[in-house]
Amino acid sequence: MDGSPAKYLMACMAMLATLFVAQPLLAQEQQSGFAPGSVCIVEAPGSVTYAELASEPSAWRCDGTSPENFDRLALRFDLRDRAADDPAPGYLRLTRLHFEEMQVVAIAADGTQATSTVAPDDLLPGSNLREAAVVLPRIEAPPVAVALIADGAPSAAALADAQPMAGIPAKPIAAYEHLLAALLCGLLLAPFFFDLGFYRVLRSAFPLYHAAFCVLAVLQTATFSGLLLLLTDLSMATQRVIAILSFDCMVAAGTLLIVGFVERHVFRPWQRKLLFAMAGLTVSLSAVGAFGLPVFGAITAQIYYAGYVVYLAALAYIMAYALRRGSVAIRWILLSYTPLLLVGVSNVVVGLTAPNSTHLDNYWLQNIALAFEVIVTAYAVTDRFLKIKSERDLARSQQCALEDLATRDPLTGLLNRRAIDEQFNDLHRAGYDTFALIDLDHFKSVNDAFGHQVGDAALQAVAKALQSDPEALAMRLGGEEFLVLLRGDDATERAEKLRQAITIRIAREVVGLDRVVTASMGMVSFPHTAMPSAGFADVYARADQLLYEAKEQGRNRTVSERLKLFRPRKHSERRSAA
Ligand code: GH3
Ligand code: MG
Ligand code: MG
Repeated sequence: MDGSPAKYLMACMAMLATLFVAQPLLAQEQQSGFAPGSVCIVEAPGSVTYAELASEPSAWRCDGTSPENFDRLALRFDLRDRAADDPAPGYLRLTRLHFEEMQVVAIAADGTQATSTVAPDDLLPGSNLREAAVVLPRIEAPPVAVALIADGAPSAAALADAQPMAGIPAKPIAAYEHLLAALLCGLLLAPFFFDLGFYRVLRSAFPLYHAAFCVLAVLQTATFSGLLLLLTDLSMATQRVIAILSFDCMVAAGTLLIVGFVERHVFRPWQRKLLFAMAGLTVSLSAVGAFGLPVFGAITAQIYYAGYVVYLAALAYIMAYALRRGSVAIRWILLSYTPLLLVGVSNVVVGLTAPNSTHLDNYWLQNIALAFEVIVTAYAVTDRFLKIKSERDLARSQQCALEDLATRDPLTGLLNRRAIDEQFNDLHRAGYDTFALIDLDHFKSVNDAFGHQVGDAALQAVAKALQSDPEALAMRLGGEEFLVLLRGDDATERAEKLRQAITIRIAREVVGLDRVVTASMGMVSFPHTAMPSAGFADVYARADQLLYEAKEQGRNRTVSERLKLFRPRKHSERRSAA
């Protein structure tokens, strides 16, 4: 080239002019840098706009992968693969997720764009709790691409699942899923009514815990499936709170069910307290999950799931312990909870390791696990109900039989020793597993000071005091020695109350007695599971020994013991050795 400066200038001018004229064409060119039908993602730091991002198509990932850590994220959904006669999309349906602000951009074929800004409250409800929709901004021509720029969204994958759609997504209509959900709710609700009936008969708390579990499971299913959305005008925020609260409170009810349902001898008092604490933990976690975002910020979910790690560890311990102690009830509970636990564990693992994923999508799995849980525990609760009921019926008929024997003490009207000797094993099998031997203190001196008649009146007052507990059988073994057999919750505490009631009753009812008459008690608990073949003589001998210790220690007190293993008497040992 013969280098005259004028020629260089001309060449430069021509290049500039070409660039200027080619600008709109370039825009088109950039747009076609994306494949038709592609979904592409790019990190969008600071306040970079869509136009700036779109000018560099090579920076976008269109292979289904997404950036790991980001504050702001842009997604571009290419719509050029849509059939020509498809109606233009008016909405973008997406998985409901947390975000601070979202820009929605509609892009026409000629490169023109329309942008709208969406706040979390602007989301439209989808057909269930997981879904939401955003309105696309209006442009003249049908959009060939839609872009989202989301601030503070935790999950790229959830956003990439978004689907452009025509028609109104927000109007909830009953669908196949809702029908299934309604059926499931009916199934979950049926045991509730049985539980109330069981409670009325047994007056034991475990059917009530199961009833609460069922109701909360219904709420859970109804919110997650969108049934509640279909039937009520509750806001999405309220439904989210209901979904979280109902789930965690349901777990709490399930935990309390373990306390009441597992055989009483299995857990130690502190383990029972641990179960109550676990229920308290899940209720607290529900408050964190539902209302904790303003306090704990982005780590709310981590706190929630970490709490569940603690819960699951404690549950594993409790279950393993009860299994080791041979509890049959815990096997039922384990069987019924297994599918739910698997779903729960997978939620916790996913929640802690990959909070960006759309794991909530397994809610039908959870529903089926719930149905399984409720059916199995309903069977187990019914089975337990029938067993307890038949034990009670047996005990009642035995009581009648005892009365028929005319084995009553004429002075007090209580059963006498002969009666108990014959029926002891049957009563034990029917749950009477607390043996309280009571002897009045210094009663001889009462007789000596106030006469035999006053003494007799005192013995009658004792009988009345001992008959005040409907789940206790009182007997007069002789002289001023009484036996009370008790069963049911807190039998030892109730026996102690009866002992103390003796003093009050005598003071109130025996005229002419101006001294306090107390009683000493030797008490043995001998659960049937631990001592299936306890004999009256063995248990009596042990209780008598404890009564002696109570007298030795100063009277007006109880010395008690819980028998663990049946120890045969010496002569039988000798016999078996011979
Ligand atoms: P402790 O605290 O050691 O039991 O002293 P205690 O005086 O109660 O001693 P003990 O049990 O040996 O005394 C039993 C007394 O109970 C003897 C008798 O006077 C009185 N007793 C026994 N049967 C009857 C009865 O049917 N009526 C009356 N009024 N007293 C009886
Ligand atoms: Mg005495
Ligand atoms: Mg005595």
